[in-house]
Amino acid sequence: MKILSVVGARPNFMKIAPIIRAISAADSDVEQVLVHTGQHFDEKMSDVFFRELELPKPDEHLGISGGSHATQTANIMIEFEPVLLRHKPDWLVVVGDVNSTVACALVASKLGVPIAHVEAGLRSRDRGMPEEINRLVTDAIADLLLTPSPDGDENLIAEGVPQEKIRCVGNVMIDSLIRALPKIEQSNALSTMELEPGGYVLATLHRPSNVDEPNMLAELIGALNKISETLPIVFPVHPRTRARLKDNNIQVAPGIMMVDPLGYFDFMSLMKSAKVVMTDSGGVQEETTYLGVTCLTVRPNTERPITIDEGTNRLVQPGKESLLAAWAEIQANPPKPRCPELWDGKAAERIAQVLLNR
Ligand code: UDP
Repeated sequence: MKILSVVGARPNFMKIAPIIRAISAADSDVEQVLVHTGQHFDEKMSDVFFRELELPKPDEHLGISGGSHATQTANIMIEFEPVLLRHKPDWLVVVGDVNSTVACALVASKLGVPIAHVEAGLRSRDRGMPEEINRLVTDAIADLLLTPSPDGDENLIAEGVPQEKIRCVGNVMIDSLIRALPKIEQSNALSTMELEPGGYVLATLHRPSNVDEPNMLAELIGALNKISETLPIVFPVHPRTRARLKDNNIQVAPGIMMVDPLGYFDFMSLMKSAKVVMTDSGGVQEETTYLGVTCLTVRPNTERPITIDEGTNRLVQPGKESLLAAWAEIQANPPKPRCPELWDGKAAERIAQVLLNR
């Protein structure tokens, strides 16, 4: 059997790493091919994760980065087609909701290669979000839909996906997190930044709806500036956000520690000991839920409602006043942690079993 997996952007690395490992552990005769599309390509957004998550070196690198959504998706499709034809795998494994996910799935569907989509069924019901389009299209053409939580199954059933294509396997992000915990404990990120456990906020922002519109970005930074008067804020800045801050000359207060994107161990160490995390990330909502750390998600909606129903996540309408109000409220009423079922470090083992037994 041959399985070809695709990674492209930062959130893909922690999802694919445990799957590759679990497939090898379940059957060492399975031939595995790893393709990196190159969506994220540099040391801080890609290479550090290959080292820390012990991902194998990609067998194929498509070298596609930058460009509009259409350009990037189209270029990945053009480069991926001959790769897929050459390798002729029995399964294509794609994860998450980035352009690489949908581009490679489209190519495979036309070539008759069965597609397994990991993290299937998540829906924000917000089609203004590019990731939502990627999720809908990928799920519509996937042959095997591997969901992280029962709400994913319910969404797919409601869209008419046959039950036999769906398997609730749990959350692979959490597999990576659990495996990395000893290394996360060893990180010296807090001492290097002179931070006390529970004595700071960790913030990330990169969704186009928050950072591409200058007024919105200025409002959100305005709220962070205000909060930083009471607690330091560590702000690992996504390249997109850094560019927008510069373009619009938005000033960041001295209480905010703006740093480059961090490696996985340092970032997770800062998350684990933060008083509150403020984010618009998908993965961070899940990781804070697992760790029981309070999370304010600066978005009008989430494709991960289980992190609110069962976890420590709360949505905040993007805006300065709403973020400041939520910050006050969350300290008075911190959410009680409860970890969703099957977020247990064994999701990739279940995925390997499903793939190998089909
Ligand atoms: N992450 C990291 N360093 C950072 C920011 C994020 O290691 O400075 C990790 C973290 O595990 C997070 C993942 O990268 O869950 C995905 O991040 P991102 O927010 O870029 O993607 P999204 O989940 O929103 O698609």
